[in-house]
Amino acid sequence: MRKLNNLNILDNVSLAPLSTFYIGGLAKEYIKVESPEKLVEIVGWVRENNKPFKVFAGGSNVVFPDEGVESLVIQVLGGSIKVEGERMVVDAGVLLSDVVSKSISLGFSGLESLSGIPGTVGGAIVGNAGAYGHAIREVVDKVEIVEAEKKEVEKGREGSRSRWMSDSECKFSYRESVFKHKPYLILRAVLKFEQGNREELERISKEIIKKREVKYHPGIRCPGSFFKNIIAADLSREQLKNIDKSKIVYGKVPAGYLLEEVGTKGMRVGGIEIASYHGNLFVNKGEGRASDVKTLAKILKEKVRNRFGIALEEEIRYF
Ligand SMILES: Cc1cc2nc3c(=O)[nH]c(=O)nc-3n(C[C@H](O)[C@H](O)[C@H](O)COP(=O)(O)OP(=O)(O)OC[C@H]3O[C@@H](n4cnc5c(N)ncnc54)[C@H](O)[C@@H]3O)c2cc1C
Repeated sequence: MRKLNNLNILDNVSLAPLSTFYIGGLAKEYIKVESPEKLVEIVGWVRENNKPFKVFAGGSNVVFPDEGVESLVIQVLGGSIKVEGERMVVDAGVLLSDVVSKSISLGFSGLESLSGIPGTVGGAIVGNAGAYGHAIREVVDKVEIVEAEKKEVEKGREGSRSRWMSDSECKFSYRESVFKHKPYLILRAVLKFEQGNREELERISKEIIKKREVKYHPGIRCPGSFFKNIIAADLSREQLKNIDKSKIVYGKVPAGYLLEEVGTKGMRVGGIEIASYHGNLFVNKGEGRASDVKTLAKILKEKVRNRFGIALEEEIRYF
């Protein structure tokens, strides 16, 4: 272990137990950052030293590589929630489930449909996480970021500065945001709510968690849904012809439906199996590897392309 500005850098840390999929080799150097201030500090240091690095958070939507990661791996996990009227200022590393519970306990409506989604607020903003027709974008007012890469004009300037981005600058769409495409690190977010009925919010939340536990039973090693659903409006008339319209929910053709139609349930490559009850659920049965995941994903994509002429896109992120 080495010290960097009061932060502990650990050597050769196994990434597998840090992700819900339990896949991945060693991080040559790993550091856990528990506050936005520390994240700014370390980003300033790595930028000044031109040190390559990668960031993750709750590890619930990533597939780490089998061969491990050579660059510094930063895990953003931990932080605080501040309530200001009907708004909350939430650090990126706070668990989404803590924010959902807090909002419900205050009778704030807006996040109840996201009950049970693992990971952090930062991770949820990156992927515009959502469920049951709702997504985190609906409550995001603004996001504070720091740029991970140094711009030409900044060379020679010490440290790194943060700035706020409005919800429209975040360019949210279905499981998408600007953060998937730009080297921005999320520090914190201001979330805005509407006053709701606490008992009703609790009821909705409990119901959703119960439903989710049927698909994601406790202890399951998976990264959530593997492929994104398909926005029905993006499909051509030709593509829609082969789709059972009763399967379209919230304007989307579930990837699970397409996969089940091509018989993927129960398929297996190495230690990765598609759940017997859900075609879009990749489960690590113990010895699963990222290479198995990639092989299986390729086979599944091909099957869906051949049958429906539709290109599936990963919701998970290869790290
Ligand atoms: C059982 C299960 C059920 C799930 N159900 C759902 C669901 O219903 N809906 C849904 O949308 N998702 C679902 N997911 C996927 C996952 O929980 C979400 O995508 C979650 O929001 C990811 O957050 P995380 O903190 O774990 O991010 P990670 O997986 O750690 O990271 C995801 C991406 O975000 C980036 N990132 C993380 N933090 C930051 C930051 N501070 N700054 C910049 N980039 C950052 C990482 O680099 C990475 O590219 C599920 C996952 C599991 C395991």
